[in-house]
Amino acid sequence: MTGSVIYERLALIGLGLIGASIALAARRQGLVKNIVGYTRTAETRAIAQSLKIADSYPASAAEAAQGADLVVLATPVGSFRALAQEIAPQLKKGATLTDVGSVKSTVIKDVGPSVPAGVHRVPGHPIAGTEHSGPAAGFATLFEGRWCILTPPAEADEAAVARLESFWRALGSSVERMDAKHHDMVLAITSHVPHLIAYNIVSTADHLAQVTSSEVIKYSAGGFRDFTRIAASDPVMWRDVFLNNKDAVLEMLGRFNEDLSLLQRAIRYGDGNTLEEVFTRTRAIRRSIIDAGQETAEPDFGRHAKDPLSASKK
Ligand code: NAP
Repeated sequence: MTGSVIYERLALIGLGLIGASIALAARRQGLVKNIVGYTRTAETRAIAQSLKIADSYPASAAEAAQGADLVVLATPVGSFRALAQEIAPQLKKGATLTDVGSVKSTVIKDVGPSVPAGVHRVPGHPIAGTEHSGPAAGFATLFEGRWCILTPPAEADEAAVARLESFWRALGSSVERMDAKHHDMVLAITSHVPHLIAYNIVSTADHLAQVTSSEVIKYSAGGFRDFTRIAASDPVMWRDVFLNNKDAVLEMLGRFNEDLSLLQRAIRYGDGNTLEEVFTRTRAIRRSIIDAGQETAEPDFGRHAKDPLSASKK
């Protein structure tokens, strides 16, 4: 234990990559006294138990939330509404209910109405993750050097927001507050559309069945391989992201298609200047991401040690 206790009792509703990582990091830093973990299936519960993710594993989300000081929804965003309704009667006065959902505006609408008076609702989103799923994919350093965005409503209790901020900082993250709609726009272009492009390019290659069985796999280091890593991300989580961030994703896809047409036109008419100008600009963006400490400069992005699917349960 290194830090001081911020919440006595932490309830994690969902023990996948994110839930398990919060548990491991919070315990390692000594930020909580007791961790209660709920997961839907006996299979995931058994894995979490064997890895000693939580201290206890109640059979229902409502039971897990009972008496907790911090409750974290860490399941796919499409499940938040029903879970919030289920746990609401058990939330104790003064508790904070947060979530780690990758979309914020719809989640706020889905969860907000269930939150009883006296319970602090502070939505959040750690900008940290991998393409792996399940408790075995969790690790204590996941949030170190990453951002965590909180989107508290204007009327949120300042002390409760500050307490949650200190929790995320102690997990190793830098914290920023943001308007939910703005969050959804920013994440649409930095995360959601890139995932959609990866899913689509891998799917297109798959449709070229003759090629996929041999050449695509054989020559995948030519760029395709990096898309397959992203396209191995959890299908249910990403289904829910697109269904719940529809407007922002469609807006960004519109812009993406316009810019793609520009490149398509440049290729068709042999306009090398345009191609070179765009590629030079994008190269500089990669440099600034590395300089900001959000990526490694290694050609394989530093991921050589891991087989992309080895830690995935799906
Ligand atoms: P995960 O590894 O797939 O784990 C999902 C957890 O939710 C499991 O405990 C699963 O239980 C449970 N679950 C799934 N569907 C459920 C349902 N309909 N009702 C109740 N429980 C359900 O997922 P994750 O990657 O940790 O993602 C969790 C949340 O974090 C999502 O909202 C996601 O948007 C957000 N997030 C993810 C990342 C990322 O990179 N993965 C990054 C930031 C935020 P069983 O296994 O027992 O079914």
